[in-house]
Amino acid sequence: MASILVTGGAGYIGSHTVRHLLEQGHEVVVLDNLQTGHRGAVLTPHFYEGDIADAALIAEIVRKHSITAAVHFAALSLVGESMKFPTKYLEANTVKSQQFVQALVENGVRRIVFSSTAAVYGVPEVVPIPEDSPKHPINPYGLSKLFIEQYLQMMETLHGLKWIALRYFNAAGASEDGRIGEAHDPETHLIPLVLQAALGQRESLSIFGNDYDTPDGTCIRDYIHVRDLADAHALALQALADGKPSGSYNVGTGKGYSVLEIIEAARRITGREIPTVQAPRREGDPDELVAQVDKIRQDLGFTARHSDLETLISSAWNWHANHPHGYR
Ligand code: UDP
Repeated sequence: MASILVTGGAGYIGSHTVRHLLEQGHEVVVLDNLQTGHRGAVLTPHFYEGDIADAALIAEIVRKHSITAAVHFAALSLVGESMKFPTKYLEANTVKSQQFVQALVENGVRRIVFSSTAAVYGVPEVVPIPEDSPKHPINPYGLSKLFIEQYLQMMETLHGLKWIALRYFNAAGASEDGRIGEAHDPETHLIPLVLQAALGQRESLSIFGNDYDTPDGTCIRDYIHVRDLADAHALALQALADGKPSGSYNVGTGKGYSVLEIIEAARRITGREIPTVQAPRREGDPDELVAQVDKIRQDLGFTARHSDLETLISSAWNWHANHPHGYR
């Protein structure tokens, strides 16, 4: 039976996408080096621990499992870390992805859905951000992803590769049954940190900056539920199978919330106190990142259905409260 190869399927967004594809009846094979992923998050029996740039391994997986399409998540994804170690990011995300895509094409796989990011836009000129906005990444993470979007386009010209790049805004939330969720170490993302403060695992939450050009002075982000992200990947795979054109899409809700609004919602939903301290701005944070979502709605039929604040935060709370140490 034809299968889908998911790299990074042991990671946060990858594991939710694997689950969604399995529920749709697909055969799914996961390749992950378990550097940041968790074996316990892999929900398919077909698992390979290995490197995406291992051409012999890719050839073996494609042949053995009759792979017809790939969803490529495997990457490093911390903006701050990428500022400190740019070479590490370009090697892991750009060089290795290039080799992975090359190996797919050489082995006859011509459909790929790629994990991209709103960080390709840098500081946006217009918000909500349309896909054709200028791409001027302000950190190596965003650049490492933009390079691969451009490379995919070149591979289409050269080899007829069909691709869709999904530019995620802020992923959040956990599966409805609480089986899989967000478990980064170290954790740097707002919602899990807020919930760890609610659990008393950290003394307080630092609010990075209060003088941004937004109504309450804190940064505004477009938070999208991982279940919605998983759905976007499934729709992208289907679009490629149906022969729809390649391209890049924002995946967001089109609505943003400030840091203070997230904290307030978390206080209400958890019933916990959540102490905060005011901290300086974090380097590289634009005031407001919100997606324009018309293109993905029109072309792929995607709309976010689980990304209201209530569902986002309560599903994440259910996960964190029941897995205070993640997958450990
Ligand atoms: N943030 C914060 N305190 C924290 C972590 C994050 O105030 O402890 C802010 C951060 O400055 C940004 C927003 O929350 O404005 C979302 O940050 P996150 O790291 O979750 O996602 P990013 O937007 O960097 O992808």
